[in-house]
Amino acid sequence: MRIIRSIRGLQAWRRKYENQEIGFVPTMGALHEGHLSLIRQARKHCSTVVVSIFVNPLQFGPTEDLSRYPRPVKSDQQLCRESGVDLLFWPTSEEFYPKDFQTSVKVSRLSCCWEGEARPTHFEGVTTVVTKLINLVRPRHAYFGQKDYQQLLVIKQMVQDLNMDTKIVRCPTVRESDGLALSSRNRYLSERQRLQSARISAALRHGVQLIKRGTRHVTTIQKELKKVLRTAEGLDIEYVAVCDAHSLARLTRAKGSMVLLAAVRIGNVRLIDNMLVKV
Ligand code: AMP
Repeated sequence: MRIIRSIRGLQAWRRKYENQEIGFVPTMGALHEGHLSLIRQARKHCSTVVVSIFVNPLQFGPTEDLSRYPRPVKSDQQLCRESGVDLLFWPTSEEFYPKDFQTSVKVSRLSCCWEGEARPTHFEGVTTVVTKLINLVRPRHAYFGQKDYQQLLVIKQMVQDLNMDTKIVRCPTVRESDGLALSSRNRYLSERQRLQSARISAALRHGVQLIKRGTRHVTTIQKELKKVLRTAEGLDIEYVAVCDAHSLARLTRAKGSMVLLAAVRIGNVRLIDNMLVKV
């Protein structure tokens, strides 16, 4: 596995691989089974697999966890090597955003709601970093987790709007055995909080079941979701919603392709999850 830390190095590498079908997995590191499932998908479908590890300062708000975000460099490299990654791009912040950097990419409508409301500069940071990465790697396929569903939609919209020649592939959310979606931030949870946080996926599953069994009134579904979430001690609900799976508009009646969204806080850890359902 090659490790490249400079932009010039990556550009030179890319020129040599001009005719390869590259599969790309952008990450912020602290790799877990969720990330590895994306890498496996890329490995299955593409001749060359590129992973990036970059804790992108632009997507963190001023009061968020940028400085304490986990950076287990050695074990991340090892996991990439074991997963058959061909190239790990691992730039420093100074390399990626030189002093006179002044451009940003913004997807307007889809970035404003839900996570965009809670974290106003977040998606602009994500779309800016992903644009730079896609320009550099020029992948045929780029793999993103359903875990960050709104992010996936925002990136798909950006790729479509800016005519990027990359197909965005959605990969299913990988979960712990009790249902908690894997996340690099789960390691901030105490043992007790970790157990309580399984209620998030339990609530979403309950919502999906209600819809599948015929409940259509969204207020009722949301009430039921909140009831399950409230059985967890010390869990604050930021939002729960039943939305159109494409526009993320809040629905009043369950219909078509939907996504159930939840964002909660446990102590000072913020967790998000979602599930798709169709009627
Ligand atoms: P991150 O390192 O958190 O920026 O995530 C990098 C990629 O991994 C994103 O596309 C995430 O959606 C994806 N990802 C994170 N957690 C999971 C998970 N539990 N299952 C599937 N994909 C995930």
